[in-house]
Amino acid sequence: MFYKSLPIKTFTFSFGYDIFIGNARFICRFLIKLFRADKGKEIIMLTIGCHLSSSKGYLAMGKEAVKIDANTFQFFTRNPRGGNAKELNPSDVEAFLAYAREHGIQRILAHAPYTLNACSADEHLRDFARRTMEDDLNRLEYTPGNCYNFHPGSHVKQGVEAGITYIADMLNQILKPEQSTTVLLETMAGKGSEVGRCFEELREILDRVTLSSHMGVCLDTCHVWDGGYDIANHLDEVIHEFDQVIGLKHLKAIHLNDSLNPLGAHKDRHARIGEGCIGKEALIRVVNHPALRHLPFYLETPNELDGYAAEIALMREHFLESNTI
Ligand code: FE
Ligand code: FE
Ligand code: ZN
Repeated sequence: MFYKSLPIKTFTFSFGYDIFIGNARFICRFLIKLFRADKGKEIIMLTIGCHLSSSKGYLAMGKEAVKIDANTFQFFTRNPRGGNAKELNPSDVEAFLAYAREHGIQRILAHAPYTLNACSADEHLRDFARRTMEDDLNRLEYTPGNCYNFHPGSHVKQGVEAGITYIADMLNQILKPEQSTTVLLETMAGKGSEVGRCFEELREILDRVTLSSHMGVCLDTCHVWDGGYDIANHLDEVIHEFDQVIGLKHLKAIHLNDSLNPLGAHKDRHARIGEGCIGKEALIRVVNHPALRHLPFYLETPNELDGYAAEIALMREHFLESNTI
């Protein structure tokens, strides 16, 4: 009798406790900011999370995010090396949507498998990228209004112009006017023949997509640094350049990573915040920048959950509360 009722009680308690803690944190943070903010200044709450494993479904990711004081998260839509996606579980999706509303979880970010290459020289691989992304976009409509990030691809000796043409063609085939998901091109480090190594290449892709209102850009701090944009010493100039070339209104998300390599290394090796060449202070300036602070930030640093919790706490501690944009 006793051992039968125990698991239920434990479950009820922990579920209730989770909701209580999550709500209390969210409401307290909002009230503190409301009282501290000067009149007439816009109140912005920091939206930050990290990459989470999607193996246990949406609700599990939502709970994990709340546990580490995140209010968003990123996840792979399927095995990062490609392959079949797990069957969607409608009751898990429903439970997550309710949980996200209750706990103030903001727009989440789906990440396409990083091995897809929409501009491969091999027609079968291009076709595989198109079908996989189309399937991902269909599935993402069950959690509407979020973003889907992908690596533009590698042109491998075909030249960047051919690469851009293939990528834009694919997007023109898979985007639908009625979709609610915004598709993001990620800024790349320029490793090998990666397309997206500079702002101009991303702009060129965006220019060729017909349904451009469904498109945006995700800026990865490690990648742009490796690509040669000095966000540690010239953040204002880099943001200005982004605005001139792409337009800040197209910037929808930031991947917040330190880099193991020096400026312009074209390597793409992420480091924990403060353990790389960009540095803690520079990344705190990124999070607080008036043109960026309203965006969602996603950590993709080499960490377990407790490491992510510490980095989220660090950024929350240093987030200035009443900046205006
Ligand atoms: Fe990525
Ligand atoms: Fe990234
Ligand atoms: Zn990377």
